[in-house]
Amino acid sequence: MENQKTVLHGLVLRETDTKETDKILTVLTAELGKIPVIARGARRKNSRIAAVSQLLTYGELTVFHRGNWYILDDGETRELFQGVRQDLELLSLAAYFAELTEALTTENRESGQLLPLLLNALYALGTLHKDPQLVKAAFELRLLALCGFEPLCRGCAVCGAQEPREPMLDVVRGMVHCRSCKEPGGLSMPLPGDTLTALRHILECPPKRLYSFTLPQPQLRSLGNAAEAFVATHLERSFRTLDYYRSIRLPDEPGYGK
Ligand SMILES: [Zn+2]
Repeated sequence: MENQKTVLHGLVLRETDTKETDKILTVLTAELGKIPVIARGARRKNSRIAAVSQLLTYGELTVFHRGNWYILDDGETRELFQGVRQDLELLSLAAYFAELTEALTTENRESGQLLPLLLNALYALGTLHKDPQLVKAAFELRLLALCGFEPLCRGCAVCGAQEPREPMLDVVRGMVHCRSCKEPGGLSMPLPGDTLTALRHILECPPKRLYSFTLPQPQLRSLGNAAEAFVATHLERSFRTLDYYRSIRLPDEPGYGK
């Protein structure tokens, strides 16, 4: 409603500097999904909305609705995710999570479980200190599943075997199959050892349990490669933040495709 104050709870997915000391924010809110917010004077020293207008800040936002925009009137920071902010690798990964979420959401459409998913991912990285590779793969797969791209992983989608032999995930068709059941035309990523069990956990567990699993390093890498290939296939675009994250990773951790 025009000129009426509304209080929203949301996380800043993107901040863009604009004229003078203003910012334009993209905020994922619990109440309205993703919305564009104008933060007037947010870059001014002593601005009372400066803290709440930063990328990856979760806060309580008091806004006015004007046409297609929301004007930030006041805000209170609820969570800054300092543990993420103080580590360049974690910060770049979290920025990628935000960019990926922004790409998968539509403005002014209810986003359901996406905000808690993202908040829990930032908490897992910065406070619980979970392995970033594990959080990244689990977040990507769960996010895509929530956005309508859930892969079929109960059994082999070709022969019907409950436990596929040498299982693989066909990221194009979104299904698990045995290595010997591979059909031409897809792109199949191996899921060795317990990787398929981990994939099932990621897709089926209660939200709070998402990062409560472990995998040996080589299998975690396989899961990560499958998750990245799944994202790349369905979004058909690159992510500036993901490229940056890859560029600052340690050289002993091979990226996708190795
Ligand atoms: Zn099969």
